[in-house]
Amino acid sequence: MAGRGSWPTAATRVAAVIGDPVEHSLSPVLHNAAFAALDLDWVYVALRVAPGGVADALAGADALGLAGLSVTMPHKSDVAALLPSCSEVARRLGSVNTVVRRDGRLHGESTDGEGFLTWLRTEAGFDPAGRRCAVFGAGGAGRAVVLALAEAGAAEVVVINRNAERGRAGAALAGEAGRTGGPVEAERVDLVVNATPVGMGAGGSGPGGAVEAFRPRAGQTVVDLVYHPSTTPLMEAARRAGASAHNGLGMLVHQAAAAFRLWTGCQAPVEAMSEAVSRRLGR
Ligand code: NAP
Repeated sequence: MAGRGSWPTAATRVAAVIGDPVEHSLSPVLHNAAFAALDLDWVYVALRVAPGGVADALAGADALGLAGLSVTMPHKSDVAALLPSCSEVARRLGSVNTVVRRDGRLHGESTDGEGFLTWLRTEAGFDPAGRRCAVFGAGGAGRAVVLALAEAGAAEVVVINRNAERGRAGAALAGEAGRTGGPVEAERVDLVVNATPVGMGAGGSGPGGAVEAFRPRAGQTVVDLVYHPSTTPLMEAARRAGASAHNGLGMLVHQAAAAFRLWTGCQAPVEAMSEAVSRRLGR
């Protein structure tokens, strides 16, 4: 962050996250730890942008010469709609979580799916190629995971969502591998991902209680994208059943690592980022 142990100067490059609320974002912890670890003269701040203020925020970021932006709730789809250029993945998802400068202009990327996949392969030891997968949820995170699993060659991606129409749209992202289903079908797949907030204490009701109706079995890999608390009821149930269970901290770190690489051109110091965020969460 602004070079190890030094103050920012006129040469310091500035990156930021925009969202609302943004006070609890872990992105400043992740990115400032990465800048410090590589001794880069960069600094990262959190900026609250109210709904409706996104176009002004993007124009401001451009005019101020910000070197990179992260985008969080509720602005990801607005940014995708406003930017003149986006990656193919961001365009298909209709969602941008990272803004980079390309040829002097702002360009949108979506690193959630890449972050999930990198973490899944390298740290959870699960390669989705040819495997059967189920995803609870078809919001921003669920859609990114569905697309990433399909592009990684998953044989099947079953989307289980409370709102049927959003579920169908999410499953369509996986092309021929995608379809919608119910919680019983999650019991026969190899990988189960919970991309709903159930587990953060949001509870489940009606068909949305599908996450809680799911019974994990031995041999499955179960991922809850929630990272606070560190162990969710779904993860506990998975471990009791003999499945391997993971929270979403790895995806959080790796989506940030992918953004860091896009901005700086450097490989991200993933270990330093993980340590910093774990410390912040008191783990
Ligand atoms: P989102 O766009 O608002 O989507 C929420 C999804 O959860 C929708 O599919 C929604 O279903 C479903 N849902 C919400 N409440 C539910 C309930 N009570 N019962 C059943 N389904 C429910 O949110 P998001 O950005 O995708 O985030 C989803 C989760 O992933 C959150 O816990 C978030 O913290 C986590 N996340 C983690 C990371 C990471 O890096 N680890 C990144 C992004 C998100 P309907 O379509 O029926 O409304």
